[in-house]
Amino acid sequence: MARTLIAGNWKMNGLRASLVEITAIAGGVTPAKENVEALICVPATLLMQAADQARESALNIGGETCHTNEKGAHTGDVSAEMLADAGASYVIVGHSERRADHDETSEIVASQAAAALRAGITPIICVGETAAERDSGKALEVVTGMLRESLPEGASAESVVIAYEPVWAIGTGNVATVEAVDEMHNALRSCLADVYGAAADLIPILYGGSMKPDNAGDLLAVKNVNGGLIGGASLKATDFLAIYAKA
Ligand code: PEP
Repeated sequence: MARTLIAGNWKMNGLRASLVEITAIAGGVTPAKENVEALICVPATLLMQAADQARESALNIGGETCHTNEKGAHTGDVSAEMLADAGASYVIVGHSERRADHDETSEIVASQAAAALRAGITPIICVGETAAERDSGKALEVVTGMLRESLPEGASAESVVIAYEPVWAIGTGNVATVEAVDEMHNALRSCLADVYGAAADLIPILYGGSMKPDNAGDLLAVKNVNGGLIGGASLKATDFLAIYAKA
């Protein structure tokens, strides 16, 4: 049985003053619930300080993307080793905003996930369909295909996390129905079983897309949903902790 992971994604939000929310979240998730982890992924500028503030707590801190290389001539980029050095234990890879804004293909995402593993941190590999792909009845095919192409070679089931994030649900207030989430998460679990065998049951599959305190209970109750990746509602400790309370 997979652990539950309640993960926040601050995206390009947050100044140092916002770190009071990290302290409040760290306090609210400590001591940890059994088999439930809490994580906030912050912009690189806030990582070291967020990790310092969370140090004595059960809150994990993560990055939002990483370069595939360890170091070198890549101005403006941050490597997985740098994230780890700054105190991250997770990194999001393949978020739809990165795929769209930076042309990150599934092949690149697989290399980023491999880079995270090389640095000793856990990649959260994001996949999801657009509204047009869902409307054309191709959501399952598209998303399972993305997953297969985005998995790093040679990884163990214990070392990765998957997030299903329908693109049309991110930041829109449009949440996928419980039935659609159930169908997609079952398909993703089967796809993972093809790759990892029985150990696929250990991989958390998160749902992301307008998860809020008032819909989190229903989404987290779906059989193959093992947590959430939460954007807007992770910026305020009260909202994030209200979702965490449902896990
Ligand atoms: C996200 O950024 O991954 C996300 C799911 O955002 P929101 O919760 O705001 O839809």
